[in-house]
Amino acid sequence: VPQGGFAEAGADLELVGISKRFPGFTAIEELDLTIPAGSFFALLGPSGCGKTTTLRLIAGLEEPTTGRILIGGRDVTSTRAYQRPVNTVFQSYALFPHMTIIENVAFGLKRRGIKNADPLAHEALQLVELDHVANRKPAQLSGGQQQRVALARAVVNRPALLLLDEPLGALDLKLRRQMQIELKDIQSEVGLTFLHVTHDQEEAMTMADTVAVMNKGRIEQMGNPQELYELPHTAFVATFLGQSNLFTGEVTSSGSSSISVDVSGTTIDVRSDRAQRHRGRVTVGVRPEKVTLYDSAPKQSSDRNVVGPGRVTDVSFSGVSTQYEVTLPTHGVVTVFSQNTSITAMHHDGDEVWLSWDVGHTFGLADESY
Ligand code: ATP
Repeated sequence: VPQGGFAEAGADLELVGISKRFPGFTAIEELDLTIPAGSFFALLGPSGCGKTTTLRLIAGLEEPTTGRILIGGRDVTSTRAYQRPVNTVFQSYALFPHMTIIENVAFGLKRRGIKNADPLAHEALQLVELDHVANRKPAQLSGGQQQRVALARAVVNRPALLLLDEPLGALDLKLRRQMQIELKDIQSEVGLTFLHVTHDQEEAMTMADTVAVMNKGRIEQMGNPQELYELPHTAFVATFLGQSNLFTGEVTSSGSSSISVDVSGTTIDVRSDRAQRHRGRVTVGVRPEKVTLYDSAPKQSSDRNVVGPGRVTDVSFSGVSTQYEVTLPTHGVVTVFSQNTSITAMHHDGDEVWLSWDVGHTFGLADESY
């Protein structure tokens, strides 16, 4: 629908030096962000970090205090909301209750005087696999189906940029997981640029090509999900994207391939390219599933970090894995996820254990953990 400035395919989005100050409160601080056309981008962060404000600025519902917004290379900073090539799907997907599903989806197109609105609306409903309920009223659909109709209504306009503000928030967990996969499929099928806002790390990681982790109005780190998970740069990112064990100590040697960090008398090595800082006090970390437990001290080797002994203080078995809490006098409590759940290999409450993990799975943070 190449009408009203609406693009055929997705457009890239650029935020340049965007700040948003409310009286007495800075919600967004000097935000720079480039989202390539056709990508599925997630803005991930806790409640109050400024995600919704960022979306409202892009949609034109809020005016930035400083900075510029460009969509498809066009500066839209002072363009009115309804003239921007943007559509938003909110958590509360208000469909018109008195209209049928097809009327709901075709509504925006008809209002803009587009002639073949009905076939386009049917096409959008096929995309979300709901064309067979086109003549029903919203109340006759489930929550998940209504959400898919809201999505069809948003993509039928072919906005260059689709903003999704916790669109799955109202759904139960099972439906949410299912919709995450569907939403991703729809995005790759239509090729529009999706900007998805969520506080759910699993949702951001499973859906997006690129995730930006936001904290207190700033982007802490941006990258593909694996990168962020394997190599978090800050304690906030490390803990927000799943569990991690963090240790703080002093760098005792710093070479071209690795650095050594003394943590309470134990040396932990980090590959230099995975350390953000190479001297002074640093925090290093490892994910719980990367750690292996031993019931006697494992042989020292240059490519493994070894810590211990400690005592198992908690065991919880979940079927696919077992979570251990190991308490060490030197390192505090360390969490370990073990896939090996055979009875004979289990460690028990009170057992003395050593922990070991690959040096390559150790990450070094840019900030000090508290
Ligand atoms: P949530 O996930 O809870 O929606 P969020 O990350 O989307 O959180 P925002 O809604 O963007 O957060 O709000 C960011 C901060 O800006 C919050 O601390 C909020 O209180 C503040 N804020 C938002 N709108 C206004 C306003 N109109 N006046 C003053 N402060 C505001």
